[in-house]
Amino acid sequence: MLLPAAKRILLKLSGEVLMGEAGFGIDPAYVMRLAEEVKAARETGLEICLVIGGGNIFRGMAGAAQGMDRAQADYMGMLATVMNALAMQSALEQIGVDTRVQSAIQMDQVCEPVIRRRAERHLQKGRIVIFAAGVGAPYFTTDSGAALRAAEMRCDALLKGTSVDGVYDSDPKRNASATRYDTVSYDQVLADNLKVMDASAVALCRDNDIPLVVFSIREKGNVARVLAGEGVQTIVKKD
Ligand code: UDP
Repeated sequence: MLLPAAKRILLKLSGEVLMGEAGFGIDPAYVMRLAEEVKAARETGLEICLVIGGGNIFRGMAGAAQGMDRAQADYMGMLATVMNALAMQSALEQIGVDTRVQSAIQMDQVCEPVIRRRAERHLQKGRIVIFAAGVGAPYFTTDSGAALRAAEMRCDALLKGTSVDGVYDSDPKRNASATRYDTVSYDQVLADNLKVMDASAVALCRDNDIPLVVFSIREKGNVARVLAGEGVQTIVKKD
């Protein structure tokens, strides 16, 4: 196993992976395929917290760039993450996985508020807890939300499933000779401004010594592969 001591992980999925091959929104068939992967990871005995971004629907920065008030646009982005969380909950429950959604923006008719002790109990009962709405404040992202929940739920690792298969020394889409790190330190990520997660999320992982595993979620079966230590990924950790 990649992280032998891991009993509880936080899996962060970028919103954009929920849109599958489409350019926008939620592709239910693709969400189901992701849910199957989460289920397989759960069946290995891991306790799983999930955080899903909202970039497939709305990003605050994009709204602000078009003239919207930034904080207002960020709240819209947070609502997008709740929609994604509900889509994932629905897919997981269709395949028999018990889940609870906890949102940092209270929405009583739809899901629970974030209550750490309650989340703890859900995990003990084998439920997957999907944390929605990031940290619940504008000017943050779901990466920060993921790092915060990973710290507060004492997760052994934060796995970030995204469109690229790890952390590169330069942008692999623009530079054909970009090389991927197998491991890299938090400090190097921050000093070189490597594109992994926001600096605040990386710093929170560093300060709480939470290894960060970056991998591509686009390849089928990759969650299991990465957990088994057989995948392609970058691990961000202490020197
Ligand atoms: N957002 C926010 N505070 C948070 C989490 C999210 O304001 O704590 C907003 C922000 O506008 C962000 C959007 O929600 O752009 C969607 O989240 P994110 O961009 O992290 O999604 P991802 O890139 O992972 O799909």
